[in-house]
Amino acid sequence: MAAEAWVTLATNDSYAVGALVLAHSLKSVNSTRPLVVMITDQVSSAMRLGEISCRVQEVNVMDSKDSAHLALLARPELGITFTKLHCWTLTDFSKCVFLDADTLVIQNCDELFDREEFSAAADAGWPDCFNSGVFVFRPSMETYGKLVEFAVAEGSFDGGDQGLLNSYFADWATKDISRRLPFIYNMTASASYSYRPAYKQFGKNVRIVHFIGSPKPWQASEASAFQNPVPGDHIAHWWRIFICNVLPRLS
Ligand code: UDP
Ligand code: MN
Repeated sequence: MAAEAWVTLATNDSYAVGALVLAHSLKSVNSTRPLVVMITDQVSSAMRLGEISCRVQEVNVMDSKDSAHLALLARPELGITFTKLHCWTLTDFSKCVFLDADTLVIQNCDELFDREEFSAAADAGWPDCFNSGVFVFRPSMETYGKLVEFAVAEGSFDGGDQGLLNSYFADWATKDISRRLPFIYNMTASASYSYRPAYKQFGKNVRIVHFIGSPKPWQASEASAFQNPVPGDHIAHWWRIFICNVLPRLS
């Protein structure tokens, strides 16, 4: 079987904490695919990411020598966006699922690897756009080159990777319904209380929770994570993994 992997990104130690919790969440649901963590040199070795993920891939915009990268240097606002695009360079793998570092896998969802590029779930704020926190893709230097070219030429309508990817994969909403992932694969954590009856009815099916916006779980205090739990208690779930599996290894 061709190699497949989960991929995430951390450009600093805060998001690296998210990546560590995500890695443990994937282990706890017995995923058969490894996790690749893309990092930049801002992530310190104290995070010990290598001990948990199958592979740590350093990516760095500034060190790059080719013209596409140089063109991007003139567009510093695209920095973090561009870093996420590096996932297309992981050509040791034939198919991958990208997960933001602020996601948490709560049930096995290896079936996502049966989907094709480009699959993603609707964004809760504007469902004709996909949310770019969870997506299925095929690493390819050709696609990577086209994405970088597109980024330089067009920029991003929201300043981030989500705007850019929605413009590039513009037919996502209309072309092929199988590329539209169910919401349970990228459930915005706030949905558990913004549409509470739906959460009550379907919440047990949720596979991946996404803590979009702020504060991120690692920015909440431990006390607040366990106070006033919202339905589903996802922040507490995140914190339990952090306390049991991540904190002991960092200290
Ligand atoms: N990210 C990162 N460093 C940053 C900002 C973002 O590594 O300073 C990565 C990380 O994987 C994060 C993803 O980019 O999950 C998207 O950013 P974020 O999750 O903060 O956006 P949101 O989901 O809240 O829109
Ligand atoms: Mn996110």
